[in-house]
Amino acid sequence: MDKVDLHLHTTASDGTETPRDVVKKAAESNIRAIAITDHDSVSGIDEALKEGKKHNIEVVPGVEISSYCNDQEIHFLGYYPQIDNFRFLKNLQKMRDDRFSRMQKMIKKLKAIGININFSEVCQEAKESALGRPHLARVLIKKGYVKDFTEAFTKFLGKGKPAYVQRKKLSPAKAITLILKAGGVPVLAHPGLYKNDSLIRQFIKDGLRGIEVFHPIHSRWETIRYKLIARYYNLLITGGSDYHGKGEQFSTIGEPPVSYRNLQLLKKEIKK
Ligand code: AMP
Ligand code: FE
Ligand code: FE
Ligand code: ZN
Repeated sequence: MDKVDLHLHTTASDGTETPRDVVKKAAESNIRAIAITDHDSVSGIDEALKEGKKHNIEVVPGVEISSYCNDQEIHFLGYYPQIDNFRFLKNLQKMRDDRFSRMQKMIKKLKAIGININFSEVCQEAKESALGRPHLARVLIKKGYVKDFTEAFTKFLGKGKPAYVQRKKLSPAKAITLILKAGGVPVLAHPGLYKNDSLIRQFIKDGLRGIEVFHPIHSRWETIRYKLIARYYNLLITGGSDYHGKGEQFSTIGEPPVSYRNLQLLKKEIKK
């Protein structure tokens, strides 16, 4: 019972379960603390904090922000940002607005290749949350255009595929600064996805404080490598499941396991 999971999504972005349900599930899995890290949104955090008190599980406020380095998407996790910081909220709102117009462009591109999806169908799928490709993928599956998520991304939605539209380019440095200015701790998400560790040095100069060592896509060797990189650069170590809901790409809360000690060190960083 000393486990934490510092990377979870809810219906505030592209997760399929409400913050309340995610907290409840984590509590049932005997996890001591979880971080809610929705894409470009902190709107699920209040609900999660309240639910956490009920179930005696510590809830860490967080966020996941996408940036672009050349054409490569780089994600940053931000821990303990002030969720009532006006400028921060305004910037997140801008990113969500951009997700909105990008979705309209993606739907247009799909129409051009004979796939008919209405914007309202995607909005219904996403409800009030930060619109993402997974919402569109779910509609594609429901309407029988593809059989699953993998097919949706490899055929249409992935980078370089016919319906792919890039979002407004936020640089990694800007994403890091945004988190720092809101009082948060910036951490590089799933570095194993980028296959380019040489970027890390620059991110540290920009203010990066940690690295997500534990993530379901990381092999045993990658996990060891990132642990060593973290030690070398004196970076915090975090990790989590990247949970998006049952039946989604990452669907097991608490896997891979991360020790509470890592969260303690993260909290010390906040006090500095
Ligand atoms: P977006 O934020 O709209 O650019 O969509 C990115 C999200 O799509 C990621 O956070 C994942 O949740 C999901 N995703 C990306 N690639 C894949 C994939 N190949 N299969 C399933 N889900 C994916
Ligand atoms: Fe996601
Ligand atoms: Fe991510
Ligand atoms: Zn994530």
